Amino acid sequence: MQHVDAGIETADVVIVGSGFGGLAAAKQLNKSGVRYVLLSGTPEHLFQPLLYQVATGVLASDEIAPPIANIIRHHKNGEARLGTVTGIDADAAVLTYDTPQGERKIRYGKLIAATGASQSYFGRDDFADKTYSLKTIDDAKRLRAQIERVFESAKDADPATRERLLSFVVVGAGATGVEVAGQLKELSKRFFHLDVSVTLVEGAGAVLPPFGGGLSEYAKKSLTRSGVEVMLDTFVTDIEVGKVTVKSKDGVERGIAAETVVWSAGVQVGGFATLLAEATGCETDRAGRLLINPDCTVGGHADIFAIGDMTSLNGYPGQSPVAMQEGRHVADIIRGATRVATPFKYWDKGSMAVISRFSAVTRVNDHIRFTGTIAWFAWLAVHLFYLVGFRNRFAAIFSWLVAFIGHGRPGFDEVEKTTKAKVLAGSNAS
Ligand SMILES: Cc1cc2nc3c(=O)[nH]c(=O)nc-3n(C[C@H](O)[C@H](O)[C@H](O)COP(=O)(O)OP(=O)(O)OC[C@H]3O[C@@H](n4cnc5c(N)ncnc54)[C@H](O)[C@@H]3O)c2cc1C
Repeated sequence: MQHVDAGIETADVVIVGSGFGGLAAAKQLNKSGVRYVLLSGTPEHLFQPLLYQVATGVLASDEIAPPIANIIRHHKNGEARLGTVTGIDADAAVLTYDTPQGERKIRYGKLIAATGASQSYFGRDDFADKTYSLKTIDDAKRLRAQIERVFESAKDADPATRERLLSFVVVGAGATGVEVAGQLKELSKRFFHLDVSVTLVEGAGAVLPPFGGGLSEYAKKSLTRSGVEVMLDTFVTDIEVGKVTVKSKDGVERGIAAETVVWSAGVQVGGFATLLAEATGCETDRAGRLLINPDCTVGGHADIFAIGDMTSLNGYPGQSPVAMQEGRHVADIIRGATRVATPFKYWDKGSMAVISRFSAVTRVNDHIRFTGTIAWFAWLAVHLFYLVGFRNRFAAIFSWLVAFIGHGRPGFDEVEKTTKAKVLAGSNAS
């Protein structure tokens, strides 16, 4: 499909990344039969908003991470390849990428970069080895194995050991932190039937800060009612085995028992974004996000677009609808459906977050807001709609019925021995 010139393969369009932005761009290019190669460091298209449900045994991992090659198999002029981009020559329009078979090069007519973001530890990178994060499917499997290990070990343990094992601290009260904290409480009550301590630590003065006002207050009250201890205006200053040290805004320091620490605070962008910034002279913000042009091009290069979490434009949030809409926008420019240099405009359809079973918050706009059961069903419906593939949707509905109407956790059935062995070194396994 692509041709080879002077030893370097050439593609009309190269998309880097198989997440929300990359997939949306691929689907839009396919509408005009544009030839493209999609390179991704991971073989799957990952539905990150449901990672917490894999971590807590609600869903199985393959339900939220189908292979990208499968999803685009009907695109006649599209091809998915496993490859991590390690270099770019922006003047020659050539990418270098690593594959299981070795290093390769590809020349692009147009480039769409959509490589996402990773976790920030606010200068304490050592926290990465002491905490569980939720960015990749492997992260979710590792956390799930740890959760299963501590609950299983606690069953027959003496009261003091049980209390130690079942102590969780979740850092960051954004949507992921709130969802994880709420699910841990629900797991303990409805599945393992053991008491658990869950502390949610947040540096800002509110839970779910971007929602604000009544929705943040509702989320905090719901969490507190379910037994989660919510600590606002509080920062983590140290993490050691079994203990997290926190400091409140007024300077009071205290230690919290924590066999398991889940880190869901802060975003850092590096990797391919850094390479692109160096190659094009594009500026970045403090988190490393590319400060792209209004039409999503990068620096002075009309042939390079960057979208999604790796970028910053007009203060748009780092959320999947932004990545998808940007992906469609740049694909439309490339396929000639939108005029070159047209600025991207985000259509904000609202945000939602789950707190626990039958409890969620939904913000459609500044006036229309829901809480409780209606918001929870709206959340399920929206996530089902965006989940890729009929089989996955069907499997997810089945798993949700088992977990939310029944008392099961089908995801724990797939905890592999290998993942069990990979829980954090230093955990007090008993
Ligand atoms: C736990 C969690 C919960 C979330 N919940 C929500 C939510 O409820 N609602 C919402 O709207 N948003 C949510 N988000 C944010 C949302 O998932 C992101 O905004 C969205 O995934 C961004 O899409 P993207 O295409 O920019 O990047 P991603 O979806 O992160 O995709 C990045 C892709 O790039 C690939 N890649 C990275 N580096 C390279 C490289 N060098 N070479 C090749 N490939 C590379 C990766 O393998 C991956 O395929 C959540 C995120 C997380 C982590």
